[in-house]
Amino acid sequence: MTRIVYVNGRYRQYRDAFVHAEDRGFQFGDAVYEVCEIYNGGLVDQARHMERLTRSLGELGIRPPMGPAALRQVMRETVRRNRVVNGLLYLQVTRGVAPRDFAMPPHGTPSTLICLARRGDPARFADQAQHGIAVITVPDIRWGRCDIKTTMLLPAVLAKDTARKAGAKEAWLVDRDGFVTEGSASNAWIVTADGRLVTRGLGHQLLPGVTRRTVIDILAHEGLVLEERAFTPEEAKCAREAFITSATNTVMPVISIDGTAIGNGAPGSIALHLRTIFHSIASVTK
Ligand code: PMP
Repeated sequence: MTRIVYVNGRYRQYRDAFVHAEDRGFQFGDAVYEVCEIYNGGLVDQARHMERLTRSLGELGIRPPMGPAALRQVMRETVRRNRVVNGLLYLQVTRGVAPRDFAMPPHGTPSTLICLARRGDPARFADQAQHGIAVITVPDIRWGRCDIKTTMLLPAVLAKDTARKAGAKEAWLVDRDGFVTEGSASNAWIVTADGRLVTRGLGHQLLPGVTRRTVIDILAHEGLVLEERAFTPEEAKCAREAFITSATNTVMPVISIDGTAIGNGAPGSIALHLRTIFHSIASVTK
């Protein structure tokens, strides 16, 4: 339960946490966001999330709402006031409030910043990981700059809904050339028959996941081989293992794709191992 939300300089009760009707985030999706895992009261990979936020803001020319030290303080304080030990922190920065116009608002318009923290249920995720999740594939209908973490998430919302209706937890998005770009809210991975870990290389088509980055560090640490390249749903269906990565899921084994069982239909051992050691290698900032 979120009790306190930071909105533009004030910590408000949840029921009073509003932004303006002419906020550009609301009207145009003219906004970027971050989701960080809260683990044992600390923020997982906070520096990487902040780097990505800075990049997203820079690519869109949205004014940073405050300096990095002040922002870290807002994040910490939001976690503290909500007494979250394990869960998620969400923050969003929009281009601010201005009379609705496609043209950018005047230079100097203050950005909007909101930050909230919510308790999670680690036992539920642990249980899900023991069973693994089903994934379906859907066409990737998103725009050309999916490397920027914007709030324009309608294609992801629709993909997730299609997945849910098919009894799956995640949708893998497939580009016009027939390759998987990523999940609707995660990065997509497979393990080949000879044990190489494959995930798509970075570019404008997918989000540079923070968890993806940290898993790459873990692979080096564990002596596992990484291959950054695109793969098709057909290759994935024949893979030894498949999994997704995201701040919400860390590493989550995938046991079926479009109804085809992956490997022996149970969570893969590499995915489960990566999940087990993830927090011992990721940085956790209190
Ligand atoms: N791709 C997309 C489209 C996402 O929405 C997310 C989750 N925000 C990810 C990948 C995973 O990124 P991260 O590991 O930083 O949560």
